[in-house]
Amino acid sequence: MFQINENYQQLNESYLFSTISKKISAYAAAHPDAKIIRMGIGDVTLPLSPAVIEALHKSVDEMGAKATFRGYGPEQGYDFLREKIAGTDFQRRGINIAADEIFVSDGAKSDTGNIGDILGEDNSVAITDPVYPVYLDTNIMRIGQGDKIHFLASNAANNFLPEIPSRKIDVVYLCYPNNPTGTVMKKAELKKWVEYAREHESLILFDAAYEAFITESDVPHSIFEIEGAEICAIEFRSFSKNAGFTGLRCSYTVVPKALKAKNGKGEKISLHALWKRRQSTKYNETPYIVQRGAEAVYSPEGQKETKALVAYYMENAKTIRNGLEQKGWTVYGGINAPYIWVQCPAGTGDSWGFFDRLLNECLVVGTPGVGFGKNGEGYFRFSSFNSHENTREAVERIKNWKY
Ligand code: PLP
Repeated sequence: MFQINENYQQLNESYLFSTISKKISAYAAAHPDAKIIRMGIGDVTLPLSPAVIEALHKSVDEMGAKATFRGYGPEQGYDFLREKIAGTDFQRRGINIAADEIFVSDGAKSDTGNIGDILGEDNSVAITDPVYPVYLDTNIMRIGQGDKIHFLASNAANNFLPEIPSRKIDVVYLCYPNNPTGTVMKKAELKKWVEYAREHESLILFDAAYEAFITESDVPHSIFEIEGAEICAIEFRSFSKNAGFTGLRCSYTVVPKALKAKNGKGEKISLHALWKRRQSTKYNETPYIVQRGAEAVYSPEGQKETKALVAYYMENAKTIRNGLEQKGWTVYGGINAPYIWVQCPAGTGDSWGFFDRLLNECLVVGTPGVGFGKNGEGYFRFSSFNSHENTREAVERIKNWKY
């Protein structure tokens, strides 16, 4: 008999959001008239901006004309997009990242999940807890639970800044602004992680999917703002949350050319070359049309419209944060991120207990903190991806909630 990858059996039975969706469906079936407000999954609600739509239409027409039709694209993405990314997201901020260090992809989920393909199985891996579940699950799929995966507690006691490990860890996942806690790592703190990685020859996998939501000036937008990070870090970015590409799919990963690791013979191997080899073997590029849409994000109108999308959600974040604070709850995040992380108030139960009561008594859905890891127990995540009207109504319902 053939064998399966038994590591899959070590995964939690169902993905967090499928469990939530089953609970909502069951409630909705029993209460068909209930107006449930969903502040759970981090999916955007506003449509793509006009500049993006115009670029998509134009490129669709190009694909229908003999002279401008395109087949397979270049393996790292089209230059027109990579140059805009390098210029706008990095060089304009004084960060020395070149267009050829950028790999365009179909999602930060794919890339953060696939990056393990180029890393050895014996690496020790550190993941913050709570965490975006993809890092943990994809590591379990690849190397199993075992003793190689270490959890870095991120909680109120350490101000959601996990302690730097006292021992050597080979690969560390960091996500800032953070999903799920909405908290950030300021420059001085991130600098310590870069120093740690350089000292121990470790790799930092830095997920900056929420970079566009940063409002405070001392919060780094990229790990490459920290001197020396180019020899110890890979960064993941996405067009999903800032520009509404969750359904369109486009992201990019920065693998600096200076990033090297030693092979078994002690020879220095370029991770850029390995990732290029991996992508060109297993991925046939993000569609041309989508890359043209992403390029439009960098046009003057695109920049203005994208900022307006982000501002819209951040207005919701403020409504949630202020409303819940006025109720006397302990609230984190929501200043540089679209997520608000709330300590479940006394008397409301644990994360799932709070979820059930909020659904049943306020008809509001969020995400139980424990779904993101053990340290998330007793916490709850609200997402600001919703309309102003729904957000205000949900907050009002919660404010009037007697629990
Ligand atoms: N990284 C983090 C931290 C996320 O929260 C998400 C989506 O929720 C992603 C990556 C996925 O982004 P994408 O839509 O580009 O796959």
